[in-house]
Amino acid sequence: MMCAVIQTYHLGLIGWPVEHSLSPVMHKAALQAAGLNGDYSLFPIAPLPAGEAELFRLVDRMKHGDLTGLNVTIPHKQTVCAFLDNLTPAARTIGAVNTVFLNSNGQLWGDNTDWSGFRQDLANQYEGQSGLVQILGAGGAARAIVYSLMMDGWQINISSRRPDQAKQLAAEFSSAHHPVSAFPVEQFSLLPDVTLIVNTTPAGMSPDIHSSPWPVDLPFPRRAFIYDLIYNPAETRLMSVARSAGLTAVNGLGMLAGQAARAFEIWTGHSIPIDVFQQAACERISL
Ligand code: NAP
Repeated sequence: MMCAVIQTYHLGLIGWPVEHSLSPVMHKAALQAAGLNGDYSLFPIAPLPAGEAELFRLVDRMKHGDLTGLNVTIPHKQTVCAFLDNLTPAARTIGAVNTVFLNSNGQLWGDNTDWSGFRQDLANQYEGQSGLVQILGAGGAARAIVYSLMMDGWQINISSRRPDQAKQLAAEFSSAHHPVSAFPVEQFSLLPDVTLIVNTTPAGMSPDIHSSPWPVDLPFPRRAFIYDLIYNPAETRLMSVARSAGLTAVNGLGMLAGQAARAFEIWTGHSIPIDVFQQAACERISL
């Protein structure tokens, strides 16, 4: 008699620190919704070089089929690339991996689902056309946002507290066909046609809830929609000031849920509604 083998999905997250991550609750909810057997573990791995041997061991475990899929967060989103066999075009262009999977040939691939999580959530929440966008911050997340917005034809300006960082990011993504600028926020935001502002800095994130990346005395462009990548607190200082000025402002919970949903689909082949991920994350945040 033949016995059906029930697959168990061993998923997890590499990062440092990882204990406050919402990924376990989101992916466990998705496993349950899909009726799949599985678990989601946290793998705290120190920044390199201290964590190098452990990172190698974990990636090797995945290659041997002990693990089905891994998420990657700070500080390993860039460094993990050197441990993988290949990168998807998105991960290669963005220069960062947040999802690792094994393909049918036993090769380890790195993908980036932050950009598509953002793109999908923005499409759900913002009803206008693409136009001028002001990005605040020029770190890892900003790269995924620039990648996503370029795909939809936005005219992008990046500002960061270290102007050279914004200039470097703009130069990297800029092309003759699609220029990306790096003017200071005080200068670019005077343009009345700025219709989207995206905060990719951690300014305002819990516990630093009184901070904002937006200069105190600078008025917002009057038609701007504010997208803050931060999701804890649910309303950041940037969002509350923008709402007081009559603007619409949303947080990054939809992006978080969207990147998780896409990673889950890559690992399991199951497309679970984003609401399942978002609801699980919300419940954990409000505990
Ligand atoms: P990162 O690589 O460290 O980059 C952060 C950027 O913000 C850098 O340009 C940094 O400049 C700047 N910055 C830091 N503190 C600032 C402050 N107080 N005022 C102004 N600028 C400041 O971090 P990341 O990976 O891009 O993540 C950034 C934020 O995005 C975090 O809050 C993270 O939780 C969030 N995020 C959310 C999602 C989601 O799914 N919603 C996904 C990814 C990231 P310096 O280099 O000068 O410090």
